[in-house]
Parts: sequence; C-alpha cells; structure tokens
Amino acid sequence: MYDAKSSKAGEFICHDEILDTLRYADENRANARLIDSILAKARERHGLTHREASVLLACNLPEKNQELFALARQMKLDFYGKRIVLFAPLYLSNYCVNGCVYCPYHQQNRHIPRKKLTQEEIAREVIALQDMGHKRLALEAGEHPSQNPIEYILESIGTIYGIQHKNGAIRRVNVNIAATTVEHYRMLRDAGIGTYILFQETYHQESYALLHPTGPKHDYAWHTEAMDRAMLGGIDDVGLGVLFGLERYRYEFAGLLMHAEHLEAVFGVGPHTISVPRIKAADGVDPSNFSNGISDDTFLKLIACIRLAVPYTGMIISTRESQSVREKSLELGISQLSGASRTSVGGYAAAERPTDTQQFDVSDNRTLDEVVRWLMELGYIPSFCTACYREGRTGDRFMQLCKTGQIQNCCQPNALMTLQEFLMDYAAAPTRELGEALILSELEQIPNSKMRELASRHLEQIRAGERDFRV
Ligand code: SF4
Ligand code: SF4
Repeated sequence: MYDAKSSKAGEFICHDEILDTLRYADENRANARLIDSILAKARERHGLTHREASVLLACNLPEKNQELFALARQMKLDFYGKRIVLFAPLYLSNYCVNGCVYCPYHQQNRHIPRKKLTQEEIAREVIALQDMGHKRLALEAGEHPSQNPIEYILESIGTIYGIQHKNGAIRRVNVNIAATTVEHYRMLRDAGIGTYILFQETYHQESYALLHPTGPKHDYAWHTEAMDRAMLGGIDDVGLGVLFGLERYRYEFAGLLMHAEHLEAVFGVGPHTISVPRIKAADGVDPSNFSNGISDDTFLKLIACIRLAVPYTGMIISTRESQSVREKSLELGISQLSGASRTSVGGYAAAERPTDTQQFDVSDNRTLDEVVRWLMELGYIPSFCTACYREGRTGDRFMQLCKTGQIQNCCQPNALMTLQEFLMDYAAAPTRELGEALILSELEQIPNSKMRELASRHLEQIRAGERDFRV
C-alpha cells in the first residue's frame, strides 16, 4: 500500500504505485492536453508529482519535448542563474564488506589493491586539493566496520577541516558513506558535515537484492530508510541518487521522486541534492553487462524532467560524464560539478593519476583550472561557495530562502568572491584575465544595491590579500 508518510521503505517506495505510474505515463505519452497542463503546472515553479513528471519523461510528442527542454533551461536560469558550484570527491578507503556487482570495491574482488589513507596521507591529499583551489569535498569510503569505523570517518573529517595550507581551506565536507544508525548520523552532524549523500543505486527491490548479493547493503529497507535516520540524527541536508543503467530508467525516476516526496511529507524538506551517475567501466565492471544503459539524449531528458519536478533541489554531475555531456547537462539543470577528480584512494597526492584503485573510469580528465576556464567561456560563473551551512542556512530554512528567491542575493556575491579567491591564488594567467572581466560584469547583475556594494568591498579586500568572506 503506497503511503508517502510511512516510515517503511516498501510503502513510501511502493512497487505497485511505480508500475501504475509507468502504465499511466505510457497511456498518456501522447496526450497533448494533459502534457500541456503538466507543463503549465511546472511553470508555476512548485514542482511536480512523480506521476506528472513520469508523463513528461514518457512524452513522445516532439514539440512538447521541445517545450519541456525550453522550460527546464528557463527554470535552471531563474533558480540558479549562471553559477556552477565546484567540488571534488576524496576517497579515504576502498575496503568494503559489500558485494555490489557494479563496483570494483566489492569484497570478492581479490585483484584490486586495498588501501586506506592514514591521517598523514589524508593531509597530503587535502593539501593537493587545496593547491588546485578546491574548497568543497565529498568524502567517499567503502563500508567496513573494522577498517572504516565511524571513528575513522570522524577523525578524517577533523583532519580535513584542520588543514590550513597557504590560503587554502576545505570549508565544506559532504559525506558519502554507507547507511548507518541515527547515533552515527548525529556524530556526523556534530562533526560539521555539509550534505549526507547516499545513492540508492536502484529503487527496484528485486533487482536491488540481486545487485547487492552480500553484506549489510543487501538489506533494502535499511538502505532505503537511511535518509530518514540521517534526518532524525539532525542532518538537514541529504543527497539522493540512483546509478542509471542498473534498472529501467523510468522506474528509477519515479522511485527517486517518490523518495523526495516522502522526505518532504515526513520532514517538511526534500533532498538538498540529486546526483545522476551512469554506470561506467571499472576494474571487473563492464557496462555492457548491464542491459539498462541509457543514451545521452535520454540522460539529458531525465535531467530536464528532474529540474521541472524538484526546482529547489541542486543537481550534481560527476566526471563519469564526458565534457560534451556535462556541457549540455549544465543548461538543463545541473548546478554542481566535480572537477579534476581522482577516483582512487590517495589519487591527488600522486604525481600521475593512479588507476589501480579507481572506483570508476573518469571521462573528463581536465585540470580544475581548465574546468574553470571552460565554464567561463561557456558563460557560467564557477563558484566555490560554501556559505549556507556555515551560516546555518540548512534544511527547511534553506528551502524557504530558495522558494522565496532570496537565496539569489547570497549565491551571486558568494560566487564572485570565491571565484576572485581562486583567480588570485590558483588560476593560470588566461583564466585570471577571463575571470576578472567576468567578475566586473557580473557584479553589476546583483540586483540589491547594498549587496552589490558589500560584494564590491569584499572583492577589493580579497585582491588586497584577505580571504573567506561570505554573505
Ligand atoms: S558501491 Fe560502495 S558499498 Fe558497494 S562495493 Fe562499492 S564501495 Fe562498497
Ligand atoms: S549561497 Fe548557499 S545556495 Fe548559494 S551557492 Fe552558496 S552555499 Fe549554495
């Protein structure tokens, strides 16, 4: 029985409701009148239900699809402006007791070297990341009660926040670790994490069991109810995601939106972010073994439909995707991008990109400076902003600011100030030249005159050597 408010995974992600939704979407995929009414609702910018959004995803009327893409572009611009927030993943350990068949870190993989960073090695990684200009990290670690206990994760977070190297600092640590207890989530909250991210992988319960044959992750309910426990533990900002390619994408799409609706119904605040990884090659993982892979066009439509369904939720794309797919995805809805990622344990301090402990093959291998320059050439403002959670703007407080549009008064100045820091401390000369011109013109776009003056003053202070301003 479907119940968005239930605390049981099988009820808030209800298989029958998803099948019914897919049937309804199939029946109405060419129903122009219904599609018009759903697009009209999307224009009101309050989001769509999983049923409505599923009809748009299934829609096969070319002119309606064009409208859908145009609306996604417009909403992206209205809510997020031209800013793109940058971050990098940091792999702490690839020890894992789970058996996920799509991941090279699964316990049965005997030929991948196992590695866990010491605190000294973490410090070296963080310095390397700071030297590129990163301010925001996503921590990654396999699930292993004895190798990667919560104490290790907490100590590592402390190490990361504690490192001040030249003008560098990591100001926001998001955490992507296995589903855990309310008590552990409370500890993570107290350690000052930003977002807690956990990918569902697939919402299809039977496929989930087959894809996760062994280990604690095999328990679908424990995994699917993790965000509820995180919120009960006081973590306001949670990040959802599925690994597209494992199951039929339309099933996953409906499940993902039902999960968002559940969080909104129970906690009054939906997910802070949604990530859209697609399965990629890795040691022992051949994507062609997974029959549900999706084309680039379908992938981009998915992104556009998520943008319309949850306008206030940030969307993240990683270096799993190529430069050209990333470029197209930005205008349709993506608001956060990883840059210069190394997806192996200890990858950043190494001179060459190591591949022996890689979790997946990286498709976009550019440096952070190249990514920043590329974004500016495309007309975007690269942002290293981490202001909100440091100012206590999390959870429903954050969502309120988003829904009233007030957050825009913070995002634009913060983007320009953090970009100015990057230009001063890390950028190559051509990037700096481009960035300085961009900041000058974008400063004028801050509508609130007081904010504009404040940002202008802080930019001067940054040029004079001061750091870490935020509004
Ligand atoms: S996906 Fe995560 S839990 Fe599964 S094997 Fe890989 S590291 Fe372990
Ligand atoms: S001001 Fe808040 S919402 Fe805007 S970019 Fe910074 S952290 Fe994100």
